[in-house]
Amino acid sequence: MLSHGQFVFGPEVAEFEKEFAAFCGTRFAIGLNSGLDALVLALRALGIGHGDEVITPPNSYIASSGAIGLLGASPVFVDVGDDYNIDPTLIENAITPKTKAIMPVHIYGQPVDMEKLLSIASEYKLTITEDASESLGSFLNYKHTGTFGEIGCLSFNGNKIITTGGGGAILTNADTLAEQIRHMSTTAKIAHPWELSHDEIGYNYRMPNINAALGCAQLELFPKLIENKRNLHMKYKKELEGIPWLRLISEKKESISNYWLNTIILGNNEDSFQKKLIETCHKEKIFLRPSWKPLHLLPMFQSCPKSELNTASFLQNKIVNLPSSAFL
Ligand SMILES: *Cc1c(COP(=O)(O)O)cnc(C)c1O
Repeated sequence: MLSHGQFVFGPEVAEFEKEFAAFCGTRFAIGLNSGLDALVLALRALGIGHGDEVITPPNSYIASSGAIGLLGASPVFVDVGDDYNIDPTLIENAITPKTKAIMPVHIYGQPVDMEKLLSIASEYKLTITEDASESLGSFLNYKHTGTFGEIGCLSFNGNKIITTGGGGAILTNADTLAEQIRHMSTTAKIAHPWELSHDEIGYNYRMPNINAALGCAQLELFPKLIENKRNLHMKYKKELEGIPWLRLISEKKESISNYWLNTIILGNNEDSFQKKLIETCHKEKIFLRPSWKPLHLLPMFQSCPKSELNTASFLQNKIVNLPSSAFL
């Protein structure tokens, strides 16, 4: 890459996309700027816009609901189950005439129960955009997360399981979506040897070649990273097993998790226990983390529709993420 000097446009993007699509098992992968941009482009390609509603969980990184909001649509927050993923049995009640899509988030690498989501989506004619930003290497019934719905989005930001120094990707099996997404990600420029013209207002979201080169190198490391992550989880499992006041979230029998983060749920303790535990461990340089502030409590999403969020609210004060680096 450094020898040919094609930092922005060059062969590594196509190479990365090809390897990546092969790993995930989709016909197309499209390299992009970031996971957030991937989500925006996915929703835009599926026709989500002003006034539409998209069903999604409240316990996520800002990018999932952020992408919905950036297009003028509204997230509709649906509660989670005890695996901290969106509860598919609660989705039907949240559907209104404005509902156009579902955006599940495979939280911390644990696969969402996609079979139920798919049957609801087909019954109500909704599209599914999976936020698989945290779940590269996670499978449900041996099928990679992000490949169940119309579109799956991934992130290669620095905190993710592999990084391109900032970047993202879209997975899809549909020719028309892949073509449209490529087009929209490159300012909707009409391909031509010299004429410079555009047929829509597009985005500048393509992955630069230098980042794709990093991605190719990272894909080679990936099996080792996953192995380390899964071994770390087994160690946590062994060490934490006998402790009555916590529960470690582990993969369900039909799924394989990348264990991007190892998560414990504190048992019947006071809400202040979570804070005390995190504080005490930080003093010992063990960097435990709570979850993100729930999205429905942020000022820009406070008035969005939501179901009762009892489990998400309850778990908010019980969740602790453990140090989960592949090099721990
Ligand atoms: C990381 C992440 C994204 C995308 O993040 P970028 O930093 O824009 O690549 C989206 N959703 C979730 C749940 C994430 O964790």
